[in-house]
Amino acid sequence: MTGGGAIRVERVSFGYPGRARVLDEVTVDVAPGTILALVGPSGAGKSTILKLINRMLVPTAGRVLVEGRDTRDWPELRLRRQIGYVIQDVGLFPHLSVAANVGLVPTLEGWPRERTGTRVRELMALVGLPFDEFAERAPDELSGGQRQRVGVARALAADPPFLLMDEPFGALDPATRADLRREFAEIQATLRKTVVIVTHDMAEAFALGTTVGVLHGGSLIACGPPAAIRASDDPRVRKFL
Ligand code: ADP
Repeated sequence: MTGGGAIRVERVSFGYPGRARVLDEVTVDVAPGTILALVGPSGAGKSTILKLINRMLVPTAGRVLVEGRDTRDWPELRLRRQIGYVIQDVGLFPHLSVAANVGLVPTLEGWPRERTGTRVRELMALVGLPFDEFAERAPDELSGGQRQRVGVARALAADPPFLLMDEPFGALDPATRADLRREFAEIQATLRKTVVIVTHDMAEAFALGTTVGVLHGGSLIACGPPAAIRASDDPRVRKFL
């Protein structure tokens, strides 16, 4: 398994043409093997940071470094292959089986069938979906929590050093959400990916984040270990807490 590399967001501003700025001089480092949890109100710019890291977007000013290299200097496909992406509604292919969904990226990358098969079994076990029971099911034959587990397994399939997660557990009921969060923390303790997770749930940010970053109107108004954020006396942070 490949552990993570470093991400540096350096004085990054971003705006869509003809609109107000979405991000304003944001600087944040994510050390290898750690989790940065981004929190803040809707529209604060959290998802935009994820899109800048995997180069769906490029900064208007400043730069984003992945393993020390500007995202603009990475061959686009190679950068994407370094980065697993998990989103709220998963985006599983409904006509593909669970196993085919999990094995999608290795298959696209031309892995031999046997290696993909071994990897799919390994990942399904990792996320608590026994292969013999779940491999041939369609996504709509799963619960929301099980679908989200498939999403995590799929993102990890090609063993990328980086993982970007956008409200990955957001659509789930509180109990399932807590289960998945705990399971993810266990997986991360072994895999040590470099992770950026976006959440509007402060408890989730504190539970998972090595570092918690609070975004407000496109500015990073606080960033540090959970205990430091909890103790912040910034009224905007307190309000959010
Ligand atoms: P968050 O993830 O914190 O909810 P986003 O990063 O998704 O916020 O969005 C930040 C801001 O950028 C919001 O004001 C949103 O309306 C705006 N925005 C997002 N996508 C687009 C787009 N494609 N075109 C114009 N504005 C956008």
